[in-house]
Amino acid sequence: MSPSYNFPKYCHCVMCMQFQILHCTLVTNRKLKLWKIKESEMCSFCELEVESISHLLFDYLHIKIFWFRLKGWLTMKTNNRIDFNISKIDLILGKSDSDNRLINLAYLVAKQYIYSCRCLYKGSYWIR
Ligand SMILES: [Zn+2]
Repeated sequence: MSPSYNFPKYCHCVMCMQFQILHCTLVTNRKLKLWKIKESEMCSFCELEVESISHLLFDYLHIKIFWFRLKGWLTMKTNNRIDFNISKIDLILGKSDSDNRLINLAYLVAKQYIYSCRCLYKGSYWIR
């Protein structure tokens, strides 16, 4: 059993989370194990692979399905007017030109949603 700690409160707004992703400071089980706070570094969702930022937001199979579903939903809601092709680089850094502000906002909110589910240790309709 892991000892309990009083963690400082971190801001979970989308911009702070994106800052943490870009600076590789988003807390994952890999880091918690490294800091000797958790015994396991395995993924909170699948418990099959080490929980890194890349695994949590892109590589995990059910997250890939999540992105695929989100793409379908956004395509349906916008009548195919946006190009929501997801690459790992775009997902982490955001798409570069200003025409992609809506997509970048969708990426930010979706990443925050995934991370919130991870922190609550639960799946959802979107992440199973
Ligand atoms: Zn996993």
